[in-house]
Amino acid sequence: MANNLQELERILVCPKCHAPVRLVARKFWCTNEECRRSYSIDEHDIPHMLISEALIEDSAAPSGETVPAAPLSTAAPLEPRGESQ
Ligand SMILES: [Zn+2]
Repeated sequence: MANNLQELERILVCPKCHAPVRLVARKFWCTNEECRRSYSIDEHDIPHMLISEALIEDSAAPSGETVPAAPLSTAAPLEPRGESQ
């Protein structure tokens, strides 16, 4: 069966910035690194391309393809804190 979502990936753009979107993990991700919105897809394979429903991700669209080791940004250290000692 043809994958509808992959068809949609080719034609949809981010409603916010009009960059192409990428289908990863059942979400459409804006490929614009400054926008970084992701749009959910419901159980009927309907993408919700609404700016008001978009999530703003910490990083741009993850690539499902081979990527050179992406340097992690130092922006978000995940150190637990609050415990003294
Ligand atoms: Zn965008």
